[in-house]
Amino acid sequence: MSISQLARSIVDSPTLRLNEEARLLRERGLPVIHLGIGEPKNKAPINAILAAGNKLSSGDVKYTPTDGLPSLKKAIIMYTEDNYNRIVAPENIIVTNGAKQSLFNVIYCLIDPQDEVIILAPYWVSYPEMVKMAYGIPIIVTPKDGTFYPRMEDILEAVSSYTKAIIVNSPNNPSGMIFPPEFIGELVEFCEAKGIYLIMDDIYHRLVFDGKQALPGYQFTQKDIESTKVIVTNGVSKIYGMTGFRIGWVIANRRMVEVMTNVQAQMTSNPATILQAAAEGALNGIQSDVESLRLTIENNRNVIMQELRSFSGIRSAMPEGAFYCFPDFRAYEENSIKLADFLLNKALVVTVPGIEFGFEGHLRLSFSGTVKEITEGIARMKWALDPESPREIYIGDRKMIRDWL
Ligand code: PMP
Repeated sequence: MSISQLARSIVDSPTLRLNEEARLLRERGLPVIHLGIGEPKNKAPINAILAAGNKLSSGDVKYTPTDGLPSLKKAIIMYTEDNYNRIVAPENIIVTNGAKQSLFNVIYCLIDPQDEVIILAPYWVSYPEMVKMAYGIPIIVTPKDGTFYPRMEDILEAVSSYTKAIIVNSPNNPSGMIFPPEFIGELVEFCEAKGIYLIMDDIYHRLVFDGKQALPGYQFTQKDIESTKVIVTNGVSKIYGMTGFRIGWVIANRRMVEVMTNVQAQMTSNPATILQAAAEGALNGIQSDVESLRLTIENNRNVIMQELRSFSGIRSAMPEGAFYCFPDFRAYEENSIKLADFLLNKALVVTVPGIEFGFEGHLRLSFSGTVKEITEGIARMKWALDPESPREIYIGDRKMIRDWL
């Protein structure tokens, strides 16, 4: 059997792999705490459930247009007007199987072999692999000042005549940072002037804390939707906590949407009809669920930061949005894969190694779970790593004694 070079070069998704490892451990009855997973605990919004239920019980579940149900597109148009202050046409929208396919479609439709895409570290794990799947070259830009805020000067240094696109994700997975409006403004202006596409991955854009806002890229350009280089990807996965529904969308110019639709038509056809109905229900329904999810997550952020503060060796920037923090664990261990393995084996806590996001020495901790999981998870990590913490701890109903350190 000979597997293609390209397919062989694509690494697995570390977050999905860890989910699977945690599931297997739990199946063996072990009390695993999952601080790796990026999905909220909420029930899907009632309007999403009702809309999906109605569609299913109608029995009329057929293909929709490849680029999405017209009525869902109408809901996305209203969402875009409300949240982005932009009027877009149905021809500017393609509905996809999750925001993952949105990003893949955009990258696949923009990139020729050897084109470069600038990715800002720390970055979401799938960006570099998606660029590679389109035979493009991911160019990673890491802030040289040691923060998680990207800097124009570092980006300018990385831009070349092959640069086709830049991907921005704010609020950011994994750092939780919201990039400053001045930075987004400067970047939009630069991309518009140079003809470089700016892909704004807005999947967390309403999960923001302390009254902060993640301003849309559109706010910084005078160009209309047909001529702007700003492309938006979004979806219901995070904001509505509807990860399993797998509905995302792209807003772009008509030509790009046409091309992406051709690609999607040859690959998956339309996203599942019932799930599109659910997304439409969520977008058109009562929006208080979004605010209550945001409040829960903000409270969880406060809890995890408080717990981390008592963890002497750790430095962690305060997340401003999304549901992750990305502490620096180098005082304990430089190698983040080794550290994550150690924590899973000794303390039964799942974390994601920072190296997967392009930042060694860090771990990504998700606070999308319950307060109990967060406090217990951090207590176990402290027990495993911090020599000043008590040597005994209960993990599940077993008393564990630390015989290292
Ligand atoms: N972008 C980012 C930054 C994400 O964190 C995720 C999900 N983890 C996605 C896109 C993909 O979202 P979806 O589940 O809708 O495919």
